[in-house]
Formats: sequence, structure tokens, C-alpha cells
Amino acid sequence: MVNYIIVTGGVVSGLGKGITTASVGKILQLHGYKVTAIKIDPYINCDAGTLRPTEHGEVWVTEDGGEIDQDLGHYERFLDINIPKCHNITTGQVYGAVIEKERNGKYLGKTVQPIPHVTDEIKRRIRKPSTEGKFDFVIVEIGGTVGDYENVLFLEAVRQMKLEGDKVIYVHVTYVPVLDSLGEAKTKPTQHSVKRLRETGIQPDFIVTRTKEPLDFVRREKIAMFCNIHEEDVISDSDVDNVYKVTLLFEEQNFCKKILNKLNLRKDHNELKKWKMFLKKISNLEQSVKIGIVGKYFDIGTSQLSDSYISVIEAVRHAAWNNNLKSEIRWIDSKTFEKNPRDLALLEGIDGIIVPGGFGLSGIQGKIDTVKYAREHNIPYLGLCLGMQLAVVEFARNVCNIKEANSREIEKKPVEPVIDFIPEQAKIIFESRYGASMRLGSYPAILKKGSVVQMLYGKTKVSERHRHRYEVNPDYISILEKNGMVFSGKSPDGILMEFLELPNHPFFVATQSHPEFKSRPMKPAPLFNGLIRAAIKKQELIRCSV
Ligand code: GLN
Repeated sequence: MVNYIIVTGGVVSGLGKGITTASVGKILQLHGYKVTAIKIDPYINCDAGTLRPTEHGEVWVTEDGGEIDQDLGHYERFLDINIPKCHNITTGQVYGAVIEKERNGKYLGKTVQPIPHVTDEIKRRIRKPSTEGKFDFVIVEIGGTVGDYENVLFLEAVRQMKLEGDKVIYVHVTYVPVLDSLGEAKTKPTQHSVKRLRETGIQPDFIVTRTKEPLDFVRREKIAMFCNIHEEDVISDSDVDNVYKVTLLFEEQNFCKKILNKLNLRKDHNELKKWKMFLKKISNLEQSVKIGIVGKYFDIGTSQLSDSYISVIEAVRHAAWNNNLKSEIRWIDSKTFEKNPRDLALLEGIDGIIVPGGFGLSGIQGKIDTVKYAREHNIPYLGLCLGMQLAVVEFARNVCNIKEANSREIEKKPVEPVIDFIPEQAKIIFESRYGASMRLGSYPAILKKGSVVQMLYGKTKVSERHRHRYEVNPDYISILEKNGMVFSGKSPDGILMEFLELPNHPFFVATQSHPEFKSRPMKPAPLFNGLIRAAIKKQELIRCSV
């Protein structure tokens, strides 16, 4: 029988509940259990595809084309599995389904109500992966914070599950702040948050406390007493320098064993050794490589947000670790180059540049200037989706001398649309059907034998995840090729350009896809590996020339 672990959050948002969920899953997996995870997002959007990245972080893309909250990316990276889009449940999806059923007369004349009809729909969706019989554990993270209006029905649904006989463990993640003026960790917010949770009828089995320093015994006892749990079930989740190490914190506190005990399960086997060795290796790395990510989704108010590019950042880290290096990531806002082109000097001393995906006009010229800088200064360059499209625009303008070359996304009626709609997208945009309508999910590509990308992948047929509406305009391919651009990967029908590269450059590679979504800590994405290796070569050359 499948076991459910329900993860809720309290006190503040942004606690790292996604990492906690992924880490709980990982320790169970390392002890031999088959694990998957579900993310519940209480917002009304049907998926994260229409959300601005600075609003909610990166949009994660699944193999089957789901556009989902970035937490699903944590689950996939930690668990090294592909998770389908039905593992994301939003209020919009649930109400959409209930309303459709009501319109189709499926409720047989009943009054359709939040309880039981909406909660039934939520439970049906949570239980769906388990009906496949492939998993021992389904970890379910409920987004938002206990006490929010919007997650009440989700909490009610998971409360009912236990009553209905499902094997459920409730884990509540809270924040234990240290007040600067007192220097003391305060448990009161946790007490209130658990009180709120218990009002919904859920008694947590475990409380995971996010803290700066490990939680001491006095605070554990206090939380235990006020929250009606045993002291050993208060788990300390203090800050670590690398998110993958949260698994070790949990392991040291026998979290997995305690979960299994409550469910009368035993440890199957133990694959911790390899994981621990990997974490030890990456903790002891000394030398580093400097990678600049030139994006635009950084600023909200006065804060800077790296969450918008979390998978790109992770992919850089994975590839650097694989080459026994740490990565030093510089976030560079392309809008600054637009205001002051001299700021391109910010790119000096950087070993490799990435222009990641993006949408819309702002920051575009800064990105095009970046591509030019990387091409002309022989700096290793990796372009991802928009980063490929702009590499084509830049090359067309400055090498092929097509001065008015542009992308239709940037200019409504370009004279020279080197990047144009994928044909079926024109109608979609005209009708403003923006939700889940891009070219989404995994698509294959055939790589040119002997090309840089083919050597990196080590095969000629690959598949990567996509999320785009525009493509290289086929009418311009021959002129781009004549001037030296190599399209080293195409869709199997040869129509869509999937990968490009520039010979006579240390490393200039771009792809229409998002290889960052398939990067895992121990299995870096080939193109990122290529970038890091080229970056190391650049460092060596500089060292030799000094
Ligand atoms: N905005 C571009 C497109 O839709 C690129 C998308 C992306 O970078 N993911 O084609």
C-alpha cells in the first residue's frame, strides 16, 4: 500500500519547503523506497505557464509539456526521476474539473459544494499516481502557508485521507527566528502555526524547523510540549551551504527511520554511501569557474531574485562539480548594458557566458550586445532558447550584414525576420490563447556527426525539453550557413533548427531547447559540461599567458 507524506508550511513563505520535501523523498529513496512527489499550488492559475518569473520563480517544464512551479524541479533533481505534469495540482485545475462535471450533469442533481465535491476532486488527483502501483511513497507538498485562505480545502482534503484509511504522515515545516535584539531562537511563531494547523483537524507527526543554527534541546522540548508531539519528532533543518546537504541533516537525526517506524516499515537497503561521498567531494572543491548569467528577471522591488533562473544555476553547479570545480555565478542584468553599453566591461574576467530563456522586449538589446561580446572576444558562450534566437539575430546583423535582422517577438513587422513564429503559433497569438499553448515538453533532435554538440552528447539522437513560440526562420538558413553558422541539430523532419554552433570559436553553442531541465547533480547536462570545459581551457590559456 502506498504511503503519503503531506508537507505543509507555517509562519512565512519561502522557507524552502520544496527542498525539505525533496530531501525527505531523497532519504526514503536512498533507503530503497520508490518515491515520487506532488506539488499543490493553491493559486487559481491552471499552471505556472502564465506567471511572470519574478512573481513565482522559474517556470519548470516537464517531459510531457507541463509548465509548473519550480519546486517540481527540486524533486526531479533530488530524486533523479521525471515527474509528469499531473503531479501538479492547482485550484484552477480542481475548480475547472468540478465545474465541467457539474455542467455535464455528472453530479446527478446534487448541490455541488466545496466539501465534498471539491475535496473529492483534490483527493482523486492526489491518489492518481498511486493507482499506478509504482510507488511506495508519494510526498505531497501543499504550497502556501497554513492560515492562508486559499489552501483551506487542500488541508481539508488531506485530513480526510487519513480518516478514509490512507497511510498518511503529516510534516509541518516552520520558521524559528532569532531576534537580533535578544539573540535567542523564538518558538512562539511555530506554536501558533501548529495551532492553526490543528484547527484544521491535522495533528503533525513531525515538525521541521528552519533555523539559522541547529535547534537546541530546550527549544525542541518547548515545541514538543506546545505542539503535542514527541521531542525526537522535532527535526532541526538549519542553514547549509549546499541544499543537497539537507539530506544529511535529516539522516543524522534518523528522520527516515522515524518515518518508517510510524508506518511500521523497515529500512530496505542503504544507498547512502555513494550520495555521502558525492556530497563530501563537492564540499571539498577549491578552485572555481566564473560563469555569467545575463538575464533580466532579477529585480523585484529592491530585492534581487535568482529563483527565476534556478535550473540554469543548478545545471552550472552540476557541470562544475563534475569537473571538480566550484562555480561562481555572476548575475548580470542585461538591462544595465542597454542603459550604459560600457557596462559590458562587467563581462571581463568571466570564464563563460550564458544567455538563458526569456520573453518580451525588455533587456533584449543588452543580450544581443552580450552575444556579440562573447563571439568577438572568444568567450565560451551557451545560448538557451532565447539565447539561441538572439545569437542568430546578432550573427545575421553583424556577420551576414543583414542590418535589419530581428525577431518577430521583438519587432511586430520586421523587415528581415530571421526569427519568426513557429507557423501554428501565429493563430494562437492572434486569438490570445496564451495558456499551455507554446511548443512544450520533450522533442527529439538529430545531431550532425562530428559537431561539438554531437561529441558532447555522445550520440546523434537526443531529446530535450522546450518552451517557445518562435524559431529560426527557414528562409535565412542558407545565408547564415554560408557565413559560417553551423546548424548542428535539427528536428527529425529537418525543418526546425534545434542546435547551432560556430566553428573557429573556442565554444559557441546554442540550442532552442532547455537542457537545464534534465541536469542532475550526478548527471550534468552535456552542453553545460561543454561550457565548463571550455571555461577551464580559457582559464588555463590566461594563466599560461601571464
Ligand atoms: N520568447 C522566445 C520564444 O517564445 C524564447 C522562449 C524561451 O526562451 N523559453 O520562442
